[in-house]
Order: sequence, then C-alpha cells, then structure tokens
Amino acid sequence: MPSATNGNGPTSPQQTQQNVHVLIIGGGITGLILAQGLRKFNASPAAATYPIKYTFTVYERDPDVFYRGGGYSLSFHWSLPFLEDAVPQDIVDGIPGCLCNPHGEETGQLGKFQYLNLHTAVPKVVVERRSISRIARVSREKLLKLLMTGIDMHFSKQLADLTWPDHNTVTAHFADGTSATGNLLVGADGSSSAVRRVVCGPDRAKNLQLPVRMMGFRTDYPLEKVARIRELDPNLIMGGDPELNTYFWFSFLNMPRPESGVKVADCHMMVSWPTEDPYPGGGKAPTIPPTNEERQALVKELSSGWAECLKEMVMDIPKSAEMREIGLYEWYPRKGDWDSRGGRVTLVGDAAHSIAPFRGEAVNHGVVDVANLLNMLIGKKKIPDGQAVVDGRLNLGKIVEAYEDEMIERVEIPCKRASKACIDANHYEDVKEGSFFTSPRQMNLK
Ligand SMILES: Cc1cc2nc3c(=O)[nH]c(=O)nc-3n(C[C@H](O)[C@H](O)[C@H](O)COP(=O)(O)OP(=O)(O)OC[C@H]3O[C@@H](n4cnc5c(N)ncnc54)[C@H](O)[C@@H]3O)c2cc1C
Repeated sequence: MPSATNGNGPTSPQQTQQNVHVLIIGGGITGLILAQGLRKFNASPAAATYPIKYTFTVYERDPDVFYRGGGYSLSFHWSLPFLEDAVPQDIVDGIPGCLCNPHGEETGQLGKFQYLNLHTAVPKVVVERRSISRIARVSREKLLKLLMTGIDMHFSKQLADLTWPDHNTVTAHFADGTSATGNLLVGADGSSSAVRRVVCGPDRAKNLQLPVRMMGFRTDYPLEKVARIRELDPNLIMGGDPELNTYFWFSFLNMPRPESGVKVADCHMMVSWPTEDPYPGGGKAPTIPPTNEERQALVKELSSGWAECLKEMVMDIPKSAEMREIGLYEWYPRKGDWDSRGGRVTLVGDAAHSIAPFRGEAVNHGVVDVANLLNMLIGKKKIPDGQAVVDGRLNLGKIVEAYEDEMIERVEIPCKRASKACIDANHYEDVKEGSFFTSPRQMNLK
C-alpha cells in the first residue's frame, strides 16, 4: 500500500477520493517547489472537491540540504511568474528575504550583467536582457531554507533502485535498505540523477562533460575591499582573460543593508578555464588539483594577469575557503529515453536536463517543469488529447506523457545554447554581441 506521510492539508470530507501518493526524490530546488505546490493545493478549497487526494513525501540523499555546499546565487527571471503561482503565499512572501542584495533591488540597482576584460576591468560586452522584465537574484541557501517550510523532509535517503510492485505503484529503494511505495515517483535528484540512471540505463543517462573545468569558492570580504567591484556592478561581475581564456565570476551572496551596521559582504566566486590542446598558457591545460591548497594556488596563478581590483579578490582568499569543483555538463532527453510505466515515474529539473549555468536558465526550466506537471495533476492545466481525471481516477499516463512531450521539446535548444555559451565564455574572443553568451534569455527558443 502507498505510504501516505505528508498530507499537508485538510482531511477530505469525500470518502470516494482516489489517494495518489507522490514520492519526490531529491530535496533540492525543484523537488521542494513541487512539494510546496502540493502543499498549496491540499490547503485550497479546490482540494476538498477534487476527485484525487494527494499525499507526498520528500526523500533527500544527504543528512541536510547544505551538506555539499551549494551556497551560490540563482537568477530567477522568466520563470518567476510560474514559481510565484506554484507555491503557497507564505513562500511567495518569503522570496524578498532570500535576495542577495535586497537594498540594491529596492533602490532599482539591478546591475548590468557585463562581461569584462579581466586584464583591464573594462566591460567588453553586455548581456542582452531586454526580454526579461523581472529578476530575483536569490541566495540558494536562503531559498532552500524557505522552501522547506511546512515540509516533512526525509533525510539520508539515497535512492538506489526502483521496482514496480503492480500496475499502479512504484517502490523506491534507498541505500540504507529501506523502501517507500507510491503511485508517482518524481526524480528531482539533480544532474547526476539516480532516477535518470535507473530509468534510462547508465550509458544513456551519462552527462556529456563540457571541455571546461570550474571551481567555486566563497568568502566574507570587508565592504571597503569590495568597493571597486560594487562600482562596477551592485550584484555581480564576470569576464574573460584575453590571453589564457580563463573566465571569472564574482557575485554578492549576501550584501548587508546599509542600516544593518554589518560591514562585510558574503561573496561567491568561480574560476573556469578551457581544457583543449593547445592550452593558451602552454603545455597541457590544468586539471582540478586534489588538495585545497593546490586548488587555491592554481586559481591564484590563473588570475595573475588580471586588473588589481579583480586579482585581489582571488589572491586574498583565506586558506580556509573551500574550493569546490563545479561540474559543467550537457544532457537533454529524447522521446523514448525512458518508459514512464503508465505515468508512474518521471524527471524534473537538472535530473531531466543538465544545462550549464552560463545563460542562467537551468533552474528556470526546472521551475517550468514542476509548474506544468503540478498544474496538470491538479487539473489547472489542460492536457492535450486527454483529461486529468477519467471516471474519478487520475489519468497519470496521459498527464506524464503530456508533461514530458512539452519538456523534451522545450529544453534541447537552451541546453545546447548553454553549452556553447559556456565554451564561448572561456574563449574571450568568442563573447560578442549576438553570441549565445549574450543573446536574450527566453523560455521558448526555436
Ligand atoms: C554555480 C551555479 C550557479 C547557477 N546559477 C544559476 C542561475 O543563475 N540561474 C539558473 O537558472 N540556474 C543556475 N544554476 C543551475 C541551478 O543551480 C540548477 O538548475 C538547480 O539547482 C537545479 O535544481 P534541482 O532541484 O533540479 O537540483 P538540485 O537543486 O541540485 O537538487 C537535487 C537534490 O537531489 C538530491 N539527490 C541527489 N541524488 C539523490 C539520490 N540518489 N537520492 C535522493 N536525493 C538525491 C541532492 O542532494 C539535492 O538536494 C546554477 C548552478 C550552479 C552550479
């Protein structure tokens, strides 16, 4: 029997409702948005009369959601209306509290999104943003904390395998030997998704590693030390090294309000470089070194030719700052890649598509995935050639098919463009007006 642990809503007066239990694998951004969407629906008057009663459980691999870092910033832009529509009002109200630079946003300092020449700190080109009307630059950490509100999380549950006990259920098997059974399992377990691996097979599920290596790190700097960076942009700067093709990203994760009296800013940085032969610096392109000390030494060496105000951000990182490798991948689904078993399993977010973060669109596609799936489950979005509920039973096969058809069609082009933008960003000469790094961000690209 499906194990119903997270009703998050009123008990239905209808005895005839079909109970549908959703197993959400992954307590990251998209898994939690789906959980919040179901929580919102369950608390709505519509839930009492809807023929389907949803319950859900979130299973997260790690003992807590910050176990592997992940403290970086995220730009929600064209997906913001989808996000705000999907989640309950308490979550919408909490989003301003997750902003990286709340004072900046309130005073209209939205930044320019410019790509600098790292040797001179002079902008080379500005990313085209006319198509974007609103942006929320949020701290991923703060957003995750917000999205966990009211959700009963099951931690240290690493999905290992799936089985199919009968025609209506799916069982998730976890690495600790436990299992859980439900009616729909949603793989929201990120770009190295175990759900993708199980349903597509290990070969097809494999990400394409892009020919660029990247490390990210985080530190607090006194406000006076970042004054020149703030003059360049209130939120973030990025740029390329015209000689080595190294790419540098700097963003404020937490810029204190002026009245707070806090005198330090939480800063996140990333350094990446191309791995092709011949490497512009001579010899073989550097690989990611094994120790933190060597990693710090490498980013310092790579930044040695930069303008002083940029170089000092890297040169002065404290020894304690942890340098984490950031995988840069490409993977997009094709129709027929997996069998949804009559709608009992599907993928959302990075599990469904690995999109490199060089056009800032990956999480935006994840939000739209979740919004579409959710809205079809709760009867808010029409299914082409079908109905969500037939004879009082959820038409899961049709819902999942319709969700996947739209998602598969939507993500291939953005995924390829993000890969090209990643490679261009790591080749200084290739970042120019009209290139994929600078061209407009929008949901549907043809
Ligand atoms: C440095 C950086 C900057 C970025 N900036 C942007 C940006 O500005 N705009 C944008 O649109 N996108 C951006 N992205 C991409 C964005 O972070 C991802 O698209 C987004 O986090 C994906 O959300 P998700 O829920 O699919 O996966 P995640 O948020 O990665 O969550 C997956 C969860 O699943 C858990 N998990 C993994 N395996 C298992 C398992 N076997 N069993 C159970 N749980 C499991 C993980 O622990 C994790 O909690 C950026 C990415 C990076 C790395």
